[in-house]
Amino acid sequence: VRPIGSIRHELVTPASGARYLSFDGGVAARCQARFPDRYAFWDTRTLLRQIIPQGAGLSYAAASFSPHATVIEHQHLNRILSFDATAQTIEVEAGIELGALYEFLAPRDFYLPVQPGHPRITVGGCIASDAHGKNQFRDGTFKSQVRSLRLFHPLHGTLDASRSLCHEIFDLTCGGYGLTGNILSATLRLTPLPSRAVNVTVIPLDEAEGIADQLENIASTHDLVYTWHNFTDQRRFGHSCIVCGAFAPDTGSFEQSLLQHSGGRLTSRTRGSWRVPFFNSLSVPVFNRAYMFAGRIRKKRARAPLRRFLFPVEPKEAYFRLFGKRGFMEYQVIVPRFAYPEFVRDVRQRLFRKPIPITLASAKYFGGDSQLLRFTGSGVCLVLDFPRTVDGKKFAEYLDQLLPVFGARPNIIKDSRLPAEVVARTYSEYEYFRQRLRDFDPKRLYGSELSERLRL
Ligand SMILES: Cc1cc2nc3c(=O)[nH]c(=O)nc-3n(C[C@H](O)[C@H](O)[C@H](O)COP(=O)(O)OP(=O)(O)OC[C@H]3O[C@@H](n4cnc5c(N)ncnc54)[C@H](O)[C@@H]3O)c2cc1C
Repeated sequence: VRPIGSIRHELVTPASGARYLSFDGGVAARCQARFPDRYAFWDTRTLLRQIIPQGAGLSYAAASFSPHATVIEHQHLNRILSFDATAQTIEVEAGIELGALYEFLAPRDFYLPVQPGHPRITVGGCIASDAHGKNQFRDGTFKSQVRSLRLFHPLHGTLDASRSLCHEIFDLTCGGYGLTGNILSATLRLTPLPSRAVNVTVIPLDEAEGIADQLENIASTHDLVYTWHNFTDQRRFGHSCIVCGAFAPDTGSFEQSLLQHSGGRLTSRTRGSWRVPFFNSLSVPVFNRAYMFAGRIRKKRARAPLRRFLFPVEPKEAYFRLFGKRGFMEYQVIVPRFAYPEFVRDVRQRLFRKPIPITLASAKYFGGDSQLLRFTGSGVCLVLDFPRTVDGKKFAEYLDQLLPVFGARPNIIKDSRLPAEVVARTYSEYEYFRQRLRDFDPKRLYGSELSERLRL
């Protein structure tokens, strides 16, 4: 297999450091950084100071930088190391982007069923945040397709870990927020590609509360399912639709699905390049009504090319820019199914009392157990986006209070202000995760703004 990575000499930032920013615009810091491009870099003698790995730096929270740590950027360690079509596996360096992996795999009729919505996200970032994809209920999280990984830690050297070998460290690293070491490479389990196009169906709905049954039914038979709700229309709150997708049987005319998208290169720095925010309490209700209207008049059944299906956010990058420099907040939460209707009713009442311009309200169905600090568990996964304003922060604090009441759990990687107390109250294995981290690394050599804030 031809290496697809670039080889450059390792760069080091100037003494003043480089500026890093969380994707939501909430945290900025000047940090020292290193950009290794060869394995000689991983030296147990020279790396004995606080460090943190970075993939594409696209996390909403400041999970891959801290002013107190040297950022180790993995962008040059991005090669495909081996590919075995018979065993249906691929070994890649952790810095490879999902888009590059897609371009290698799709012509060979393979894909990864679990991947987040943007092609610049890296495999290392997906493992460390245990990202979810289009249908978590059926396909699980990113961990489910990781066969093994190679990890570097200054105290332990290079370790190979899998479910059968060093399984404790494998378990801690998948969803370990980069705190167990640098993932150098991973072997991923591939899935044969059923086709290169997806039939997408849009079903109109008139409420936001009682959707769990429908979501679960559709999730068990489809490759994609999510809802979209209008949370800014006081008269028709939750006026919504379910979007579901399934691979189409024929592939003939969809060769363009394989082409590289020519859109922008979204980064945490470029997201805030529009200084003035477009989203506010006047524009958002209009925006949502227009979006809903466009969705309802569009064909109820359409075909999406594969790339659009796998990376739905790619053509919608402008959405994030519309929040402007001040940024946005995303609150993503798994609510147990039985509690979901009441949870939504409480949120609805709060929004009636103090309206917040919710730019996105969308739900997916989740399954599985909650373990360590991974964003998994059974129930409805609701995501809410809103501008980063004083009122937005108060709304997030209101949601913080609501979670323990309903047995709900927030997504740590999506919220750059989430307090440690909320995580401790909502993740039953919070203390256990901290202890296991200390057992593996008594010196706690890895640290980020996220790990400091959450007292990990
Ligand atoms: C537009 C957009 C859409 C998204 N959609 C989804 C989605 O659908 N589902 C979902 O679950 N998430 C989604 N996310 C969140 C995203 O998947 C995670 O934040 C992911 O971790 C980002 O990967 P990254 O390569 O940018 O990693 P970074 O942000 O650089 O790092 C994330 C974490 O991974 C660690 N890390 C990175 N590389 C390594 C490595 N080589 N070794 C060890 N640790 C490492 C870092 O230390 C950090 O803790 C989305 C984000 C964006 C911006």
